[in-house]
Amino acid sequence: MPAQRLDGKACASEVETALLERVNALKTDGIVPHLAVLIVGDDPASHVYVNSKVRMCERLGIRSTHIALPADTPEETVRQHVLAMNEQKDLDGILIQSPLPAHMDEEALTDMIRPTKDVDGFHPQNLGRLVQGRTDGMLPCTPSGVMRMLDWAGIQLKGKRAVVLGRSRIVGMPAALLLAARGADATVTVAHSKTEDLPLVCAEADVLVAAVGRPEMVQPEWVKPGAVVVDVGINRVEDATRERGWRLAGDVAPEVENVASWLSPVPGGVGPMTIAMLMENTVRSAEWRRAGGTE
Ligand code: NDP
Repeated sequence: MPAQRLDGKACASEVETALLERVNALKTDGIVPHLAVLIVGDDPASHVYVNSKVRMCERLGIRSTHIALPADTPEETVRQHVLAMNEQKDLDGILIQSPLPAHMDEEALTDMIRPTKDVDGFHPQNLGRLVQGRTDGMLPCTPSGVMRMLDWAGIQLKGKRAVVLGRSRIVGMPAALLLAARGADATVTVAHSKTEDLPLVCAEADVLVAAVGRPEMVQPEWVKPGAVVVDVGINRVEDATRERGWRLAGDVAPEVENVASWLSPVPGGVGPMTIAMLMENTVRSAEWRRAGGTE
C-alpha cells in the first residue's frame, strides 16, 4: 500500500484559519501584526520565497514591510536597518532572507535581531531556550512546522526511534531537539556527512526526517517498512520535459512511497508549514506586544 500523504498544505491551511482569528482579535485591541522581510541581492529563488511570505501576510491581514537591497549593499547598512527595526514599536517580526551575499556575516546579523522579534527562531537566545527544553518561545519555522504536521496527522512519537538526516542550525539540529523534547519523547539520532553506514542508520528510524539538500538521496532500501518519512529538502533539478527546464525535488526518492507509511510531498509538504509557522511566530510576537512587550 502506498504511503499516506503528509499533507503540509492542508495542515498549513488549518493553521492559517486559526491564525486569522488571532489576528482579528489583535485588531479588535488596536494591534495589527507587522512583519518586516529584508532581502539583499537578486537570488531568484529567494525573491520567490519572500513574495510568498508577503502574500501570506496579505491573506491573514498581517502588515508586511518588504525591504529589498542590492547585492553590493555594505553589511553596515543591513546592521543599521536591523537596529532601527528592533526599536520600531509597531513591528513584531524581523526576517532576514537567507542566503545573504558572501561578504556578509549572516549569523552575526541574525544575532542582532531582538529575540522577541526573531520570527525565524535562529537567535542564540531562542535556540538556547530550545536546548533547555523550553518549546514555548520563538521556534525555528521549518522544524516546528515538521512537528506540527506530525501532530496533525496523529503520528505518535513517544518512545519511537527518530533519525534526522542533517545537522544544520536552521533545520536538522533544532528538529532533533524538538523530536527529543519532553512531550514529543522520541529517541533521536542525528546523521550528517561524516556518518558511517548512513543507509543502515536511516533504516533504523521509525521516523526519518531528511534535511540534507541532496536531491532524492534517501532510497527505498534506506527506509524501514512502515516508517514515517518527512522530506524537508527543496532542490532544483534539471528536467528537459518541463517547459522551464527544471523541477523541484526533495531529499527523498519518490519510490520511498512504496515502503513508508507516511511521506511528505515536495512541494506541498514542509514548505507550506514553514511559512505558516513564520506567520504564527509573528502573531505570537504581536500578542506579546499586546501584553506589554513581555513573553
Ligand atoms: P545545510 O546545507 O545547511 O545542511 C545540510 C546537512 O546535510 C548538513 O548537516 C550536512 O552535513 C548534511 N549532508 C550533506 N550532504 C550529506 C551527505 N552526502 N550525507 C549525509 N549528510 C549530508 O542545509 P539546510 O539544513 O539549510 O537545508 C536542508 C534541505 O532542506 C535543503 O534542501 C533546503 O533547501 C531544504 N530546506 C527546506 C525548507 C522548507 O521550508 N521546506 C526550509 C529550509 C531548508 P555536515 O554538517 O556534515 O556538512
